[in-house]
Amino acid sequence: MENCLFCKIISGEIPSTKVYEDEKILAFRDIAPQAPTHILVIPKEHIGGVDELTESNSAVVSHIFVKIAEIAKNEGLSNGYRVVSNIGEDGGQTVRHLHFHILGGEKLSEKMS
Ligand code: 5GP
Ligand code: ZN
Repeated sequence: MENCLFCKIISGEIPSTKVYEDEKILAFRDIAPQAPTHILVIPKEHIGGVDELTESNSAVVSHIFVKIAEIAKNEGLSNGYRVVSNIGEDGGQTVRHLHFHILGGEKLSEKMS
């Protein structure tokens, strides 16, 4: 997708600090971390957000969640962590490429909104 920031990160046009990569997904550190550990996990296929998931493009989501658990373990988040996906304007989504935030490394706020 032209002009998609995360597609540019996937292509290498924009550099990132990679944490995990395979043929389907990429995980990299958020540029403005909101917790001691803040990682973004994205599919390499451009999907705008959770609201663009369908039966035919959503298999990557289960793969992402299996890898999220592995990444969290590798990052030492043994006491827990949070996975968040913002959707659309009201959800606070700023990049329209499906992504899951992994937040951890401290006791997170109980407030969710
Ligand atoms: P959203 O607000 O859409 O849920 O999350 C987008 C995230 O992307 C934000 O947490 C923001 O800090 C992160 N972000 C924006 N631009 C860049 C960038 O160029 N590199 C990296 N690594 N993260 C970015
Ligand atoms: Zn994209």
